Amino acid sequence: MSDTVERIKTLIIGSGPAGYTAAIYAARADLKPVMYTGMEPGGQLTTTTEVDNFPGYPEGIDGPTMMVQLQQQAERFGTEVRVGMVTAVDLSTEPGGIHHITVDESKKIEAETVIISTGASAKYLNIPSEQRLRGGGVSACAVCDGFFYKGQEVAIVGGGDTAAEEASYLANICKKVTMLVRKDHMRASKAMQHRVNSLENIDIRYNTEVDEVLGEQVVEGLRMVNNKTGHKEDIEITGLFVAIGHKPNTDIFKGQLDMDDTGYIITEGKSTKTNIPGVFASGDVQDKEYRQAVTAAGTGCMAALDAERYLATVEQKVMQPS
Ligand code: NDP
Repeated sequence: MSDTVERIKTLIIGSGPAGYTAAIYAARADLKPVMYTGMEPGGQLTTTTEVDNFPGYPEGIDGPTMMVQLQQQAERFGTEVRVGMVTAVDLSTEPGGIHHITVDESKKIEAETVIISTGASAKYLNIPSEQRLRGGGVSACAVCDGFFYKGQEVAIVGGGDTAAEEASYLANICKKVTMLVRKDHMRASKAMQHRVNSLENIDIRYNTEVDEVLGEQVVEGLRMVNNKTGHKEDIEITGLFVAIGHKPNTDIFKGQLDMDDTGYIITEGKSTKTNIPGVFASGDVQDKEYRQAVTAAGTGCMAALDAERYLATVEQKVMQPS
């Protein structure tokens, strides 16, 4: 237990592309940023293999390497990167107010500005057999884990763009992909629907949900249920991919920051400003639409610039009281 309070100018919470880009800009602006990485240092990209769409990497780069390089770049300018989890926040609503942050339930921090880049996490179905077999054949990332099912039969749940994209990715490496869509239509864009429809080894089952994932230690099959007829059917699979969307990691900020009805932080206009002065949000935690590494990095840059301008305004007011 630590009861000493540390004062920090710019605290960055989360270590994905948004957090690291904010750190690079904040450090160069002499905001002396300290970053807490959270439970998954490097964020979602550490569970990705190849990143082919980040500008500047003509041959692509693997996600974990990219995150290590972003960390090195942020540290080169003086960012202090610490492994730790922010567990509570008490944000001041006063302009120029100090935000009280607790890390790992014990360490106390006073922050002049806070940049939230806590990202979003994959959603699961939350049925017991699925939870039991996570890591034993149940995955929420086809691009990360699809390789292990090369030549095998797998299933994927979801009817959005992620599910469609991952189904076509899996179809390239697996023998057969059964796609479970709970409605009678997909939510995915027409182009993505066309892609999955055109692949012969994708079997799309509409109005179909997971009743139970079969297998004790590893996935051996799937019991599907037609939600219109109630008809159940078992198929043999070795992998189940869940692609039903993401949940923003915003629980600790609930009741203090304005959020939409799905928990994404609302930012002001084109800025990264939240409803609390001195608190900024960047990356997937405030973006359910684009959710790309490059867009996250862009908003991380914006958050650092917004924090710098905010501090300059606050300092000016302190020096010249009205
Ligand atoms: P979405 O929220 O768009 O889709 C989630 C899908 O999962 C829906 O089909 C939904 O069904 C289904 N679903 C949700 N909960 C359950 C459940 N409990 N059981 C069964 N099915 C369930 O999430 P995505 O991750 O697909 O996409 C998020 C955003 O990212 C979108 O804006 C998307 O366009 C974008 N995106 C764009 C890509 C691209 O352009 N290349 C690639 C990937 C994502 P229902 O429709 O019935 O609600």
